[in-house]
Amino acid sequence: MELLKDKVALVTGAGSGIGRAVAELYARNGASVVVSDIDDKGGFAVVEDIQRAGGKAFFVRADVSKAEDNEQLVAATLKEYGKLDIACNNAGIGGESAPTGSYKLTEWEKVIGINLNGVFYGMRYQLPVMVKAGAGAIVNMASILGTAGFAGSCAYVAAKHAVVGLTKTAAIEYSAKGIRVNAVGPGFIETPLLTKHLSQQEMQGLVGLHPIGRLGKPEEVAELVLWLSAPLSSFVTGGYYPVDGAYLAR
Ligand code: NAD
Repeated sequence: MELLKDKVALVTGAGSGIGRAVAELYARNGASVVVSDIDDKGGFAVVEDIQRAGGKAFFVRADVSKAEDNEQLVAATLKEYGKLDIACNNAGIGGESAPTGSYKLTEWEKVIGINLNGVFYGMRYQLPVMVKAGAGAIVNMASILGTAGFAGSCAYVAAKHAVVGLTKTAAIEYSAKGIRVNAVGPGFIETPLLTKHLSQQEMQGLVGLHPIGRLGKPEEVAELVLWLSAPLSSFVTGGYYPVDGAYLAR
């Protein structure tokens, strides 16, 4: 099924994990995809995979924490494909774990810079282009920690809550202009963001927080992102959608 036939979609943080799964699913559904990341190697590998499968994609290096990189990313998209229909603002990091009272100031700046400013800067340059076109869909990657706290992760939790608020605000501002903006809230998903930093025992501890009895897979998040990006969800905007094996329902 080609849900995104003739659409142009950009994905940040697309060189790994959830972003990679989203970029590949977008491409399989007929979109021309802009794969963006700070990791050239990961980004080019995703482009190669998409092209090998017969899809259309190209790589743009962009650090989402820099406003100018986001501006250039949108400009590069327009130069290559002539339009921008869909944006998935997905790039993010976990950040170090420490209680709020001793959280490193530099780490706070870093996590907020990528996970919050990155989403704002992304929309700041995506929205004007979509307004001109009179249509668009934006999906911002929040987290279950966009509505719940988590000890040791003050910057991450604050950034993800803010992403939910930004999403609601932009949806209110732009719905009547044909642009839908939604946020996705994954539970813990098996990606390098977790597997690089946690022991097997810590991963098992996280499994116990999900009534479904396992962690999620990037492809399971991508399916929801696809639905929110496609015309199938034409009356859906301003929402926050968990995909979390009942983590938040507990
Ligand atoms: P990941 O580490 O596998 O992938 C993240 C990608 O973002 C990497 O390719 C990395 O190079 C890129 N990136 C990092 N900093 C960047 C920057 N400044 N500019 C551009 N790209 C940058 O992680 P993931 O698990 O796929 O996470 C993707 C998103 O999903 C993040 O926003 C994360 O907070 C969110 N999320 C993840 C989980 C989880 O359990 N894995 C749960 C909820 C939400």
